[in-house]
Amino acid sequence: MNHKFDFDLERVVQEITSKDAKLVLIQLPEGIKMYAEEIVSFLVKNTKATIIVSGESNWGGCDVALNEARNLNVDLLVHFGHAPFIKADFSILYVEVKDLTDFHVLLQQSLDSLKTFNKIGLVASIQHLHTLPDVQLFYEKHGKTVSIPSKKGFAAYDGHVVGCEYNALKTIDDKVDCFIVIGNNFHSLGAALSVQKPVFLIDVYNMDVVNMEPLKQKIVKQRAMALAKMKDARTIGIIIGTKPGQKFGTYQILKERLEKLGKNVVVLTMNEVTQEKLTNFYNIQGFIELACPRIAIEDYGKYDKPILTMKEAFVLLNANSWEDLLVNGFL
Ligand code: SF4
Repeated sequence: MNHKFDFDLERVVQEITSKDAKLVLIQLPEGIKMYAEEIVSFLVKNTKATIIVSGESNWGGCDVALNEARNLNVDLLVHFGHAPFIKADFSILYVEVKDLTDFHVLLQQSLDSLKTFNKIGLVASIQHLHTLPDVQLFYEKHGKTVSIPSKKGFAAYDGHVVGCEYNALKTIDDKVDCFIVIGNNFHSLGAALSVQKPVFLIDVYNMDVVNMEPLKQKIVKQRAMALAKMKDARTIGIIIGTKPGQKFGTYQILKERLEKLGKNVVVLTMNEVTQEKLTNFYNIQGFIELACPRIAIEDYGKYDKPILTMKEAFVLLNANSWEDLLVNGFL
């Protein structure tokens, strides 16, 4: 189905004008790159600035095109589709983009799945965050108690869910019977892998209500397999992510502890982790990635060799337990 978005372009025009920006770089997430022409036309018509669109991938608020912006010497970087994630010494405008799709029919449909759950924890990805008050009202009218968790960590707002940040949900895990995530599979799977209570997705993209438990169980099995394979690796690559907001953990501790276990370690940097890049490191049998934790988890099938997240690496090092991951989450 076609989604209708609010790109808040009047605010972008205002910012360009007030900064008297002559050269502007805009960044769009993959799902909205198709609107590039429409956005550029509007900005060109309503400002005096030259607009350049970054053709690189953009997966999250962590993925801010600072290097491109500095290389091009632009006056302003406009990052669409995510909430502020990092602080940088550069002029960045985050434009969060609202998805205006009406999904009321899904709320009605979800009541069937929620029959046995009275207390609901409610969160949404940034595109749907503006719908939370209405959704809360809907469920309360149907006799449910709704809790929206306060923001924590990388989440910019109360009830805001980010792919690598579920601590807010954990704070209400023992107070609710289940969670509802409004958005897509990515955020709801992350939630399911982080909390103990059942997670349901209001899937605004496929117009469906999805119980995340079967997918969670499949992923947990895959993670167990990745850990088991990693035990046999003689040489391990630790991948440091070079995107501005992807600095998860420190490689030195991992390196020292892996070497104590008798492993050879090669520390690598990557801006984007791909199978093609990993293939060239032929003599490395497995990787630990300190970039986005979702790369290892989400893209399991894409890679020939096992890839662990930092949390999983500590299980390999016997510094944490598998049971702890199951209880406290993989992210
Ligand atoms: S690190 Fe990964 S999950 Fe977190 S914001 Fe970036 S792309 Fe999203």
